[in-house]
Amino acid sequence: MKSLPITIDSVRKAYGSYVALDDVSLDVQAGEFLTLLGPSGSGKTTLLMALAGFVRPDSGKLLLGNRDITRLAPNKRDIGIVFQNYALFPHMNVLANVEYPLALRKTPKAQARQQALDTLARVKLEGLAKRNIAALSGGQRQRVALARAIVFEPRVMLMDEPLSALDRNLRETMQYEIRRLHDDLGITTIYVTHDQREALTMSDRVAVMNSGRIQQIDTPQQIYDRPSTRFVAEFMGEANILAPGSARTIDGGDASRETLMIRAESFHLDAKLVGRDGVALEARLCAKAFRGENWLLTLALDDGQEVLVCIPAALASGCAELAAGQRVTAYAPAEKVHAIPGAIA
Ligand code: ADP
Ligand code: MG
Repeated sequence: MKSLPITIDSVRKAYGSYVALDDVSLDVQAGEFLTLLGPSGSGKTTLLMALAGFVRPDSGKLLLGNRDITRLAPNKRDIGIVFQNYALFPHMNVLANVEYPLALRKTPKAQARQQALDTLARVKLEGLAKRNIAALSGGQRQRVALARAIVFEPRVMLMDEPLSALDRNLRETMQYEIRRLHDDLGITTIYVTHDQREALTMSDRVAVMNSGRIQQIDTPQQIYDRPSTRFVAEFMGEANILAPGSARTIDGGDASRETLMIRAESFHLDAKLVGRDGVALEARLCAKAFRGENWLLTLALDDGQEVLVCIPAALASGCAELAAGQRVTAYAPAEKVHAIPGAIA
């Protein structure tokens, strides 16, 4: 099956005066797994539904390969969709649900049956073809929705928070399985989630959305280590945003004149673990908490800025003895110190 690239070109959508998509542009490569990540209300579902054909953009263009699909009917778009609530037909059994997209596309009955059974095997539901939807677990329903999305061999798959209803263990298993399914089929996939870790784990690239705009599109590692805005830095994990002049170099040199981002887990309490080009923060310990795999220390700089420091348990031999009020120096290696362009903390 040949997969296709997706082009989203300056798409805008407003509901009354509320702008849900504000001039969004995005290129997804053929066969890529791209995740839209953002808080609730940032426009992820609206963008996905515009691609699927259920939301009509006010302006802008959507292309699948070279084909302009902006005004095409949903079932003509060659796109498989897993909706947030699965949207399975509750009065049909598993097999009928999976055959449905083929019936819509007038696939001959015998062929449709075989294709549906093959797809059920692919998502590990081979024994459940005759089962009613109501008699399935959440994870099984999710697999049916997945099978229904891919059974007609679409060129593109869209998934809107497909795992949000599942408990954590099952979610992690399914993350792995969805990624593997993507790799087997080579199908261009846009996946939506508000869960940072899920986005980092699953994706080739992540597009971070906020207020109807894409803030940054990059590999998971770049998004995490080199956020281009303060919003992205803070959305992706425990980020300390430090005002210009907060840090000094290890040998006591000039402090940075830019706003810096240093993640909580980038710090050490031992200067020897950090190269000479690293930075140091002089602080006072406000609080500490043991979290099993690590210690979380809350520090205060002399100007009152709070800094979170996370020390892995294996490197935290001294943490248990630290007392609130004590002076502490936290060190971070240069490669973990990131200036946020244009940001003034
Ligand atoms: P997300 O999926 O990121 O949570 P949505 O795309 O669902 O965000 O929604 C983006 C914004 O657009 C939200 O503030 C939402 O209330 C608004 N919105 C979405 N659909 C409609 C609609 N049909 N009518 C009015 N407002 C809408
Ligand atoms: Mg949504």
